[in-house]
Amino acid sequence: TRVLLTGGSGFIAAHTLDLLLKHGHSVVTTVRSQEKADKIKEAYPDLGKDKLDFFIVEDIAKEDAFDKAVISNPPFEAVLHTASPFHFKITDIQKDLIDPAVTGTTGILKAIKKSAPTVKRVVVTSSFAAIINPDNGLWPEHTYSEEDFNPITQEQAMENPMSGYRASKTFAEKAAWDFVEKEKPNFTISTINPPMVFGPVVHYLNSLDNLNTSNERIRDAALGKFKDEIPYTGVHVWVDVRDVAEAHVKAMEIPEAAGKRFFVTTGYFSNREICDIIKKNFPQYKDLPSETTPGGTFPEGGMFKVNNKRSVEVLGLKFRSLEECVVDTIKSLQSVGL
Ligand code: NDP
Repeated sequence: TRVLLTGGSGFIAAHTLDLLLKHGHSVVTTVRSQEKADKIKEAYPDLGKDKLDFFIVEDIAKEDAFDKAVISNPPFEAVLHTASPFHFKITDIQKDLIDPAVTGTTGILKAIKKSAPTVKRVVVTSSFAAIINPDNGLWPEHTYSEEDFNPITQEQAMENPMSGYRASKTFAEKAAWDFVEKEKPNFTISTINPPMVFGPVVHYLNSLDNLNTSNERIRDAALGKFKDEIPYTGVHVWVDVRDVAEAHVKAMEIPEAAGKRFFVTTGYFSNREICDIIKKNFPQYKDLPSETTPGGTFPEGGMFKVNNKRSVEVLGLKFRSLEECVVDTIKSLQSVGL
């Protein structure tokens, strides 16, 4: 299949790109600069332009950002849209988080409808952020699934960067489903909704100081930052990046995935478990917490449950263990200087 993948320099996208190429697809990926394109190209020295090519899209928040990117020869049959800001180094929630997420999503869907009639499948990277209802807190009696949609409002979005991020993913996903309903395009969409994504970083794109947001805690644990107190875990549900990549590729390949959201999650984790896994497997990192170090456990009153059945049944996902994930993440961080 001829595929357009957006944001190819991202953590999740790099693994998705790798899997697309392994499955024999022909990929054009968008990146923000020629420098990033060159770095990715270096990792695949044997692939010709027919298998891997690049298109520069500097800012997905521009209305017409994807107008030219969706046109290709041979034409695209599928689009995987992963590019969206996921970091909290921002000054303006609307401009830095919400606009790129929403306009990026609607912009690419409009461009496909207008100029890429051969595209049949679009997979959009959404998030558990678009599922969770933060107003209900830990909600022990609830089981989250694809049925749930975060009811966050524009006003709540402006409260702090975390709300802003969650709103950006919620509004973007909603805009995608609305687009399909109203515009009745020639293609079907699927969304992939992962919670915290951990896993190996690709060495050619990262440095220890410049990691994707979700892997920072694994680095920080190994660096001894949790020695005196383990921070609160946050969402407590996770998935391995390689399983997320597989979800994207399978959602594109499997016809039954059309029109569905996929809550791709392995299940629970805690920051304490991450520390314990590092301690057990990498004795060289000395400053890890001990049994008596406070923090990092599960909430005492229990918490929401999760249902990942659809990802298993439709996409055939198996889900890697936390131990495999953390061990491989640490190994990958060692290649960038941990
Ligand atoms: P990364 O930060 O590694 O990737 C984000 C990608 O989006 C990068 O390629 C980035 O380019 C690109 N991007 C961001 N803003 C813009 C913009 N304005 N214009 C053009 N490109 C832009 O994070 P992840 O790989 O983790 O995130 C990928 C997707 O997965 C996002 O949609 C995110 O919301 C979603 N997600 C991630 C989770 C996680 O725990 N990691 C959990 C749930 C969902 P550049 O690096 O050049 O700025």
